Amino acid sequence: MKNPTSRPVVLCLSGHDPSGGAGLQADIEALLAQACHAAPTVTALTVQDTVNVSDFRVLDREWVLAQANAVIADMPIAAVKLGMLGSVEMVGTVLQIMNRLPGVPLVCDPVLRAGGGGALGKDDVGYAMRERLFPVSTIATPNLPEARILAELPEGSADECAERLLPHIRNLLITGGHGDESEVHNRLYCRDGSRHDFTCARLPGSYHGSGCTLASALAGRLALGEELTSAVRSALDYTWRTLRDAEAPGHGQYIPRRL
Ligand code: PLP
Repeated sequence: MKNPTSRPVVLCLSGHDPSGGAGLQADIEALLAQACHAAPTVTALTVQDTVNVSDFRVLDREWVLAQANAVIADMPIAAVKLGMLGSVEMVGTVLQIMNRLPGVPLVCDPVLRAGGGGALGKDDVGYAMRERLFPVSTIATPNLPEARILAELPEGSADECAERLLPHIRNLLITGGHGDESEVHNRLYCRDGSRHDFTCARLPGSYHGSGCTLASALAGRLALGEELTSAVRSALDYTWRTLRDAEAPGHGQYIPRRL
């Protein structure tokens, strides 16, 4: 007999990374680890390894809509996770998809660079996400370099970036993994004025897909009905463990061990 109670479904709109470290594969693995089901809609294809990105191609709008609409018509969507969108046009496409999912928690990971620094979209994509997708998102999860781009503050602190970005979004998690202090400071800013700091030990090395892992785990936790601050803590703790247990299958960055 089939199990009548299914795991919550999380719709993932993100790019494909053939190294398997980031993108949709990261989303699928991180969601499986939260006992959720991932429904992956491809927004873009990339050419990359664990060192860096050499190319990417954004899918046609019709193809993205057709993929997402097929899933939405078929399954109840408990949360949505956004990763690499790749173009300003894709921002409009995602908005069209979200119009079909009112009230569904949306985690927006504003991906603009690969772990190795290569571009996965122009800064204009980030600005379009800020203006059009942040207002319908539950939370965005930029790292500090991404937050600086989005806030247009090249030298800004996390607090300064948050002050600029919070008028656009309800909750903002700025991660500190890209710094060089011995501790990583992750900061959650909420529109009600509350702020929560989550500090963890910095692990050696650099990682490919850590942001995707975090945002997907968070979307999974929200899909399961966990309250936001608790879901952020759970997702950060899970992500830290995947980095602690990371492997280096290639010549570049470590890949989080998510399962
Ligand atoms: N999404 C895709 C498709 C990618 O290829 C990458 C990085 O290469 C990312 C997202 C971002 O990766 P990270 O989680 O390391 O920021």
